[in-house]
Amino acid sequence: MSRPQAGIEDKIFDVAVVGYGPTGATLANLLAGQGLQVLVIDREATIYNLPRAVHFDDETMRVFQTVGVADELSRYTCINPGMKFQDSRGRVLLDWPRDQSITSHGWNASYRLHQPDLERLLREQLQNRNNVQELPGCQVEAINENSDHVALGCEDKATSRKLELKSRYVVGCDGANSLVRQFVCDGMKDFGFCERWLVVDLMLERPRPDLGDHSIQFCDPQRPMTYCRSPGRRRRWEITVLDGETDEEISSEKKVWELLSRWITPKDAAIERCAIYTFRSAIARQWHKGRLCIAGDAAHLTPPFMGQGMCTGIRDAANLAWKLSLIIQNGADGSILHTYEKERSPHAQAYIETAIRLGGLINTMDQASALQMANNQKHGNSTIKSIQPKLGASHYLPGLSDKEDHPVGRPFLQVLLNENRMKFDDVVGFVHTLITRRNLKRNLTDCIFVVSAQDYTELNAVLDELNAEAVWVRPDRYIAALANNAEELLTQMQDLLSHSKTSINIDSFNK
Ligand SMILES: Cc1cc2nc3c(=O)[nH]c(=O)nc-3n(C[C@H](O)[C@H](O)[C@H](O)COP(=O)(O)OP(=O)(O)OC[C@H]3O[C@@H](n4cnc5c(N)ncnc54)[C@H](O)[C@@H]3O)c2cc1C
Repeated sequence: MSRPQAGIEDKIFDVAVVGYGPTGATLANLLAGQGLQVLVIDREATIYNLPRAVHFDDETMRVFQTVGVADELSRYTCINPGMKFQDSRGRVLLDWPRDQSITSHGWNASYRLHQPDLERLLREQLQNRNNVQELPGCQVEAINENSDHVALGCEDKATSRKLELKSRYVVGCDGANSLVRQFVCDGMKDFGFCERWLVVDLMLERPRPDLGDHSIQFCDPQRPMTYCRSPGRRRRWEITVLDGETDEEISSEKKVWELLSRWITPKDAAIERCAIYTFRSAIARQWHKGRLCIAGDAAHLTPPFMGQGMCTGIRDAANLAWKLSLIIQNGADGSILHTYEKERSPHAQAYIETAIRLGGLINTMDQASALQMANNQKHGNSTIKSIQPKLGASHYLPGLSDKEDHPVGRPFLQVLLNENRMKFDDVVGFVHTLITRRNLKRNLTDCIFVVSAQDYTELNAVLDELNAEAVWVRPDRYIAALANNAEELLTQMQDLLSHSKTSINIDSFNK
């Protein structure tokens, strides 16, 4: 375990990430990959080992690709065929199949995982870097913002030693009960969903293929439950705790086996871990203030029915990382962090609202109207698709349009390039990319990487599909603008270009 190094209190880090869960570990990796001096602090000495995320999506895997853990992570995951919502008689009310082919993100649509496997890989990846200081077992207790840095009052829990650590920016990835959030805003907007659920992870001791690979939501108003197929021998049940039931009563081993007896008995499996959670739905009223930001569960809480809580935090990390880098490395004004909240908050809210609707279907007696609500359609049909909300408006999305099917504000296709079939994101890296039909006379600045369809002919089809001659793709892979030529696009990139260290003359580009 890392202990605070001598002299650590004299140093000013670029970014201190409070919380070493999936959001903090992803953000720290992305920032460290940009060469920033990163401090990661967590009050826990080791990875949190209670049952949590079992699912993530293709976009999230794409961020893990940027971090450099996706291939290794694939070894610890299995591909999810989808989710079915069944009534108490076993009839399928709603089917949510997941595409089994590779999606536009270049990965499978939906994966099953064991969250601690992911957290371990993210931490191992970070430990390879020499511009990162990890402080597990260190609790942040006080935050004082100064004109050029933030001072964090911390306690090293192993020794009770008090430390004052300094950083130019602080991101609170410190979970649902975030301390950093208290310094950023006056609480969260609550969407009203609040239920206690018992979550049980089991290890199979003999194969049980009859349990199936789909997740099943048992929409039994008497006691809604969820079954999840996890990787390897692990299986998960999530069980509503009824009013009046105490945590002790419902989580006793005897009661757990009684509740699971329809599907499984101690002859088949051993209980690995149990926990009771209160599933909530809320979003922070503000995500950024001065030198402080919040991300992940610190910024939003969603019931887990869509398996999107962690994924939402990973998207936050990708959005925030390049903005912090632009401020610290390219001298952009700290106020650009407002765009983080503007873009991410409505996107996160779309997931929260959909998860609440699905939760309504799982535990209501009036399933016909709940079905319509869950589908969000006047005449709900019996299948749903994953939602694809757009980012909220900001000046880093100058091409955003009100048209629902317009691609700006949504992720760019991860196309495979040249005979080596290299993934687009691996070719360009974590930078802004200007994709043009024709080669430019000269290359661009340190801020912008240029890719031409003359060099990578596969991009022609993508440009055709987008009906554009030039596209601005941001490091988080979202399309920021489309244009009829590179010069027109560059005028939309003026803000970004103004932060570049290398100056450019727009007139010097080929017509
Ligand atoms: C039962 C269940 C099932 C779920 N299923 C899914 C799913 O299938 N898919 C999905 O995407 N999401 C799912 N989620 C949600 C997912 O687990 C969370 O969204 C995710 O863990 C949040 O990550 P985070 O890094 O933002 O916060 P956390 O993982 O909560 O990490 C916060 C960290 O901050 C540290 N910390 C807090 N305060 C301090 C302090 N003052 N000083 C230092 N350190 C501090 C904590 O020790 C902790 O390590 C599920 C959650 C639950 C409970």
